[in-house]
Amino acid sequence: MSARQLRRPLALAIHGGAGVIERNSLGADAERAIHAELDRALDAGHAVLTTGGTALDAVEVAVALLEDSPYFNAGYGSVFTADGRHELDASIMDGHGRRAGAVAGLSTVRHPVRLARRVLEESPHVFLIGAGAEQYADTHSDIERVPNDWFATEARREQLRDAQHREQGAWQASQDLRGKYFGTVGAVALDSHGHVAAATSTGGMTNKRWGRVGDSPLIGAGTWADAHCAVSCTGWGEYYIRNAVAHDIAARVAYRGDRVRVATEDVILGEVPQHGGDGGAIAIDRDGNIALVLNTTGMYRGWVHPDGQRGTAIYRDA
Ligand code: ASP
Repeated sequence: MSARQLRRPLALAIHGGAGVIERNSLGADAERAIHAELDRALDAGHAVLTTGGTALDAVEVAVALLEDSPYFNAGYGSVFTADGRHELDASIMDGHGRRAGAVAGLSTVRHPVRLARRVLEESPHVFLIGAGAEQYADTHSDIERVPNDWFATEARREQLRDAQHREQGAWQASQDLRGKYFGTVGAVALDSHGHVAAATSTGGMTNKRWGRVGDSPLIGAGTWADAHCAVSCTGWGEYYIRNAVAHDIAARVAYRGDRVRVATEDVILGEVPQHGGDGGAIAIDRDGNIALVLNTTGMYRGWVHPDGQRGTAIYRDA
């Protein structure tokens, strides 16, 4: 890496899901642990960037760490489906060349984001689902596999019981329950080559059935990256799909020249709630400007700005 390249701005932002996260609902121990998990993911992703790695590598590394945390709904600690299983979705996109990979309905892949990366790098396709995606994982011995019940935690089992009790058969979570039944992790990064990338991973929606898939693995809905900016979303997936949220944010930056913060706020604080949805998004542009925007009471999040200033936050007011 030349000295000239090293002077370029580097930046990273991550999220661990948006929703109803009230100050009195998390204990001090859980808060501390969540900040530590976010910091660990920031450290790992930023180390990739500072050693000349790509934004694509940085978002994969950061998301894979968040997938291992029981506090976030992705990988280990994913929510349960209606029949007591786990179905995992993920996607990753490189703004440089607009390469993308996505997977949905996985049942045995420990780090769905890593399989999405393989789809991006090594397959002629963008999006693999269910049994076929599992077969594709079979062809990669370094993709770690686990039994489906490895993803289970007692807290998520309790959420399933709660959801099934409250909903009494209706599949749609009510607005006030959103924070409990959803969740996602994601990352966006700018590397020393001036390229941006985004990745998103989720267990989806508690009590989901019929092969339900949300926005997280859908390129343009939950994840997007192009030459101008990269976006990773978290929110009520059905609304994010219908509003093509990640692409809408990026399109405002690309076509109208909106600043990334303005574009993200207009979509997350305007379009999404106007259509009845809720959630948040993180975005980054090629100058390293970061937007972390939520219309819910909380979004687990962290950031490292180009000047090195960094932080983590949980609630809307930090
Ligand atoms: N967007 C995810 C889904 O609908 C959930 C979330 O981000 O909270 O599957």
